[in-house]
Amino acid sequence: MNQKSSQRNEVGATRREMLHGTLGATLALGVGQSLAASSAHASTGGEGSAAALSSGHQAILDRLMEGNQRFISGHLRKHDMANARGILAKGQRPDTAVIRCADSRVAPELVFDQNLGELFVCGVAGNIPTPELMASIEYAVAVLGTRMILIMGHSSCGAVDAAIQHQTDVGALPGSLPGLIAQILPSVLKAQKTPGDTLAHSIKQNSMDAASRLTKMSTVVEEAVNQGEVGIASGVYELSSGRFIVNSPS
Ligand SMILES: [Zn+2]
Repeated sequence: MNQKSSQRNEVGATRREMLHGTLGATLALGVGQSLAASSAHASTGGEGSAAALSSGHQAILDRLMEGNQRFISGHLRKHDMANARGILAKGQRPDTAVIRCADSRVAPELVFDQNLGELFVCGVAGNIPTPELMASIEYAVAVLGTRMILIMGHSSCGAVDAAIQHQTDVGALPGSLPGLIAQILPSVLKAQKTPGDTLAHSIKQNSMDAASRLTKMSTVVEEAVNQGEVGIASGVYELSSGRFIVNSPS
């Protein structure tokens, strides 16, 4: 380890310790604005999906994919939720954080056949890492010990379709939508260069870009990834088949 990386590790550990100390006692109530502010040092960019996973992180992803196979086949595990509730009332330690779209058809706990306390699920239309979602992810990484972050796109995503349909007039969308949909637009513009199904290509590109933005938006996540503590993956959930297709690492 060279001096620079050693310094980075010390800085990273200190930053996470600060987060843990500041948040450990209070964040059960919600994530503070200060984290959202600290995470928002970049909001665009990203050329592809996250890097290849370590064997440990791949094992976590493999377990989720085994759960997805159970979901597809209809042979789900029997979850003892009553017992889980009692144990989880004392604390939580979810292995995986998921950023998924705000869509009633996309339920990570079901899709990956996981019990209470096993997934730390954050949702927003278009499954993009907004500053508020990044603050939630930072809490999972720094306080709960989450080791995996998964971006979960899905087929027929209305938010991505809105970005395609309104790419020249995003501002014409109602309410708060322009600010959100504008964050999906760069992925659409990239995906349109590939012939074929623009919506499908855009959904995949958007999930890959979201994954690559995680470390750019958050020094907490960046340091955890650089130190091998956290892995990042992305993929697209097919509504009709139930299959979650993992994007290849860049
Ligand atoms: Zn969607």
